[in-house]
Amino acid sequence: MSSTTAKTYSPSKAMADAAHVNADRYDRMYADSLADPDGFWREQAARVDWITPFTEVSDVDFTLGNVSINWFADGQLNVAANCIDRHLATRADQTAIIWEPDSPTDEALHITYRDLHAGTCKMANILKDLGVGRGDRVVIYMPMIPEAAFAMLACARIGAIHSIVFAGFSPDALAARVNGCEAKVVITADYAPRGGKATPLKTNADQALLHCKDTVKCLVVKRTGGQTTWTEGRDYDYNALSKTAADTCHVEPMNAEDPLFILYTSGSTGQPKGVVHSTGGYLVYAALTHETTFDYKDGDVFWCTADVGWVTGHSYIVYGPLANGATTVMFEGVPTYPDASRFWQVCEKHKVNQFYTAPTAIRALMGQGDDFVKGADLSSLRILGTVGEPINPEAWNWYNDVIGGGRCPIVDTWWQTETGGHLMTPLPGAHAMKPGSAMKPFFGIKPVVLEPTTAEVLEGNPAEGVLCIASSWPGQMRTVWGDHERFEKTYFADYPGYYFTGDGCKRDADGDYWITGRVDDVINVSGHRMGTAEVESALVAHPKVAEAAVVGYPHAIKGQGIYCYVTLMGGEEYTDELRAELRKWVRTEIGPIASPDLIQWAPGLPKTRSGKIMRRILRKIAENDHATLGDTSTLADPSVVDDLVKNRMNS
Ligand code: ATP
Ligand code: MG
Repeated sequence: MSSTTAKTYSPSKAMADAAHVNADRYDRMYADSLADPDGFWREQAARVDWITPFTEVSDVDFTLGNVSINWFADGQLNVAANCIDRHLATRADQTAIIWEPDSPTDEALHITYRDLHAGTCKMANILKDLGVGRGDRVVIYMPMIPEAAFAMLACARIGAIHSIVFAGFSPDALAARVNGCEAKVVITADYAPRGGKATPLKTNADQALLHCKDTVKCLVVKRTGGQTTWTEGRDYDYNALSKTAADTCHVEPMNAEDPLFILYTSGSTGQPKGVVHSTGGYLVYAALTHETTFDYKDGDVFWCTADVGWVTGHSYIVYGPLANGATTVMFEGVPTYPDASRFWQVCEKHKVNQFYTAPTAIRALMGQGDDFVKGADLSSLRILGTVGEPINPEAWNWYNDVIGGGRCPIVDTWWQTETGGHLMTPLPGAHAMKPGSAMKPFFGIKPVVLEPTTAEVLEGNPAEGVLCIASSWPGQMRTVWGDHERFEKTYFADYPGYYFTGDGCKRDADGDYWITGRVDDVINVSGHRMGTAEVESALVAHPKVAEAAVVGYPHAIKGQGIYCYVTLMGGEEYTDELRAELRKWVRTEIGPIASPDLIQWAPGLPKTRSGKIMRRILRKIAENDHATLGDTSTLADPSVVDDLVKNRMNS
């Protein structure tokens, strides 16, 4: 992973010339953003409309016991007005949202900014009638349908705080989140079609609400029209109410620091944290990163495949794109239904220009072979993006060659629920990309690499250690809902004066950044510290390997041994010979120090519902400590774990 070995991919001259930000401009803007952050962000904040202009830009303190983060604090604005109303004069008939349903034979919808306005206002009026007002909490537990966007924007319009719970979550997880923020209303749908199956969302909500205050109301959107039970006085029929609800609604002037939403982290490393985002700073940051990272231009069709249940869906399906007056695709389905060509079919159908997905999806589709891609015309694609986990160079190359035809820059965006928007990414017209590297900090972001035990700042290149951020930025989370102490302890206690990301990184000889995974995932083998991501990438580079997860386990001689869980490509045989071959393979790819001690075949890996490998569970299994697996509520398929425990390898 050093600059001497990494191949680089420069943007074409045409791309660089046409881009919002080329190399010179990046250097200049980045330098300005650190030299005079308030000046830089004052200027950037002009991209949103303020009802009352702010006078002070930032007021931030990272000192433990005193942490407080404020941006544009005396300004007032409304997020829904910024995402809808202000576009009506010029874009009323432009498509705001292209909705692509789960089944390719059902009709896609083109929702114009005018439609979006009406839908949002109706939803807002219904919520008001249900007693929701400024500062109240609303939980959204919905499929990926336009009403989910209406619901988010309706909350923003009337000043309510939304908390979205991914529709794949169980009734227990939903109840915990409803109670956690004392929500007044839960908005749900009858069913959530996904991959040809329909999850009974309303039934789940019914079960969850048994464990909530009986004052909580339930607003139900009809998606399939399938049968549901109904509790009179608690349940409200959105479709009936929207027939008579007014399609205009007053915009509530909100303070910049009023919370816009609460959203829980994915739960990869422990109990999910209820992240609180602000109104003004968040919107400015989401809009700027959306335009810059994806080089979004008027008329482009932008598709982020995430679910609105994750922060990626908040910032890059709804708030960022709509603040920029964009056309954003909202996809209800999954990448492999009806088959593994679906993403590419949708790209062709809607002439998608920017496509943004996760490494887990790329690896899964790569494992299915190129034939699924060949039938689709992908010539509209201009920029590709990835988010969520480190992307293995092998997957990066496939994405670049097979999907991008070698012509589309790939933005490997590193960020977190906590950060509101991208913190590191190459910019498509500015940077020569290196497969697997998040490359450069975004404007205003000052990364520091710290020695993990002494907290010494590692200057110069190359450097490797814990990744912290020395600056604040407008999109930064403000607190953990109801638990400011947990906020301070989690992010500001270990490395005083910095925002601690929990991730490790390398800065190579050129000063480019590589995320090496969670700090917890660094292992120490015979005194050598290494990120497990590197061993995983080596394994995935083997033609028979589809996915791999690597953890440490106690080893009598080495201190820690290397324990690998490996999923093979479809059709490959799990044999002892292959085990030996993989061991040799990693040894040649990285070196003898990285040689796997144990390789367990894993037809399935434990993943969060957002598709990330939960290494903390794999670590427990490798350590033979599976009695206490910790919080598994965010696990997508718990049965995978039993199987892995049963087949644990013994040294
Ligand atoms: P929890 O905080 O509850 O353990 P989580 O960290 O998975 O869950 P998210 O906020 O969804 O919750 O994920 C952010 C994390 O995802 C980052 O801290 C990083 O570890 C990883 N990540 C995201 N994008 C990238 C990327 N482009 N490259 C490498 N890692 C990434
Ligand atoms: Mg995290």
